[in-house]
Amino acid sequence: NGDSQVILAAHEVGKSFGSLRAVDGVSMSVTRDEVFGLAGPNGAGKSTLFNLLTGIPIRPDSGKVIFDGHEIQNRSPRWIAKAGLKRTFQTEAVFESLSVLENVRIGSAYGGAGKARRWAPARCREALDAVELGGDPNRPADGLSLIDRKRLMIAGALVSGPSVLLLDEPAAGLDPADQDALIRLLAGVRGTGVTMVIIEHVLSVLEALADRMAVLDSGRIIVTGRPAEVLSDPRVVEAYLGP
Ligand code: ADP
Ligand code: MG
Repeated sequence: NGDSQVILAAHEVGKSFGSLRAVDGVSMSVTRDEVFGLAGPNGAGKSTLFNLLTGIPIRPDSGKVIFDGHEIQNRSPRWIAKAGLKRTFQTEAVFESLSVLENVRIGSAYGGAGKARRWAPARCREALDAVELGGDPNRPADGLSLIDRKRLMIAGALVSGPSVLLLDEPAAGLDPADQDALIRLLAGVRGTGVTMVIIEHVLSVLEALADRMAVLDSGRIIVTGRPAEVLSDPRVVEAYLGP
């Protein structure tokens, strides 16, 4: 049955900030090996939804999140990361005072490594290879270009070997050539068997990578489907252009 193929699901997940219902009863399911896109205007609740899925730094006030057969909405961020659900952030979380390799060794936030543990250098090099970040791994991270900082952040999330990776606007700020490089590298990550959910304003990235996508508007999913169908849906055009 199809349900056993669902690796991540939200059931009527909601979150209010005061009187603002930032996420208003979102249900979605992501299938193993799928790339699932999330789009929607600024303030629609996309990043908040990622926060609710990973427990960083907030929990839903209603609904359930199921990851790999576990109910996780009340689990700690660390438990969720260790179970194999990882994320990146909208701003590149790079420690500029550390080397490229050390950035990967500590893993990104809640990498499951913790203070006492560092990932083995060989494993870090594999993660750097996966994101096509070449060059001397001992060079400082503060000289990296924007695309390389993004590569580094993704390597930090991949080093723990997640089954699902959530990416929050990975293409933001990239020129078209770097967007293409990002698409290639994410296609490569997908090829290693990592299921992905990608929040993205750069819709060409979702057109290139997503099997299905949803559009969020005012905390609710308004359309789900294949990118070509979704992006031509009048309700989606209205959400982006509307009053
Ligand atoms: P998106 O990622 O789709 O641009 P967000 O999820 O960041 O949107 O934000 C959705 C809404 O929730 C916005 O109105 C934002 O200002 C509000 N919001 C997000 N996080 C918080 C918070 N911690 N406290 C108060 N309001 C928040
Ligand atoms: Mg956001």
